[in-house]
Amino acid sequence: MVRELTCIICPMGCGISVTSENGKITGISGNTCPRGEAYAREECTNPVRTVTTTVLSTDGRPVPVKTEHPIPKSKVLDCMKQLDSVRVKLPVKIGDCICEDVFGSRIISSANCG
Ligand code: SF4
Repeated sequence: MVRELTCIICPMGCGISVTSENGKITGISGNTCPRGEAYAREECTNPVRTVTTTVLSTDGRPVPVKTEHPIPKSKVLDCMKQLDSVRVKLPVKIGDCICEDVFGSRIISSANCG
């Protein structure tokens, strides 16, 4: 089986082909640098994503937030559901912790608000 990916690590956007047999990666090609190989390997075995979204402040204003670290791609929707009920007391500064542990990552403010 061959899976075609576009590397998202840098703006070059190299096309990468990942060949696998019986669930094991047998070849990676098309990457221009080792970071592309690492990205392709992770994307095919344990895909992760940084989540960026907003939560509401206690007075109803949107507060931009993101996961401090990427979380498993399979948990992105559950993460969003958890954040639906979060209310933040303003003011917050960029980098402030909004939630301590959501699928292995802190949720932090991505803007100064309030
Ligand atoms: S393989 Fe390397 S050069 Fe190509 S997009 Fe990925 S990080 Fe950039």
